[in-house]
Amino acid sequence: MNANDALERMKQGNERFRAGRAEGVVIDGPSHEELKQGQQPFAILLSCSDSRVPPEILFDTGLGDLFVIRVAGNVANLSSIASIEYAVLHLGSKLIVVMAHESCGAVGAAIAGGDAGKHLNRLLSHIQPALDPPDKDDSVIARRNAKVSAERMINESDILRSAVENDGVKIVTAFFHFSNGEVQFD
Ligand SMILES: [Zn+2]
Repeated sequence: MNANDALERMKQGNERFRAGRAEGVVIDGPSHEELKQGQQPFAILLSCSDSRVPPEILFDTGLGDLFVIRVAGNVANLSSIASIEYAVLHLGSKLIVVMAHESCGAVGAAIAGGDAGKHLNRLLSHIQPALDPPDKDDSVIARRNAKVSAERMINESDILRSAVENDGVKIVTAFFHFSNGEVQFD
């Protein structure tokens, strides 16, 4: 599935979720056999670990549909970039979505600053570039942070940069609204 078709499928899934028409996950004999053969996820998603933003539910997807990397603040760190590289190289996914969300705790912690401990400090350092210029609306910072992650994929990964330039892979940023369940794509 090409990147545009994958994006359309995600939008339609989110519409079903919002309308209360989600189809959910169905396990039956044939699909069970297919799943054992391998995976061909139609999209890759980098999203926050926040319990309120489970991608498979927000996009009404089933087993094998989405290759999901979840990390607080949807940061593009070594492990998340490596995971995305794997999916691009070996699973053939053409769409990479970086999804930020309202009221993100990691973004809030980055805005607050201070010492959060060795490991959290390191994670929050990935969000730092999104804090400039300052904004009192944390959603503005969260959206900017999604773009920072997308740019880092291109700048730090030869594999992903080449996939975007030569192989039809697209990186898209998005933002999830709690108020109406909408995932807004940039
Ligand atoms: Zn979050």
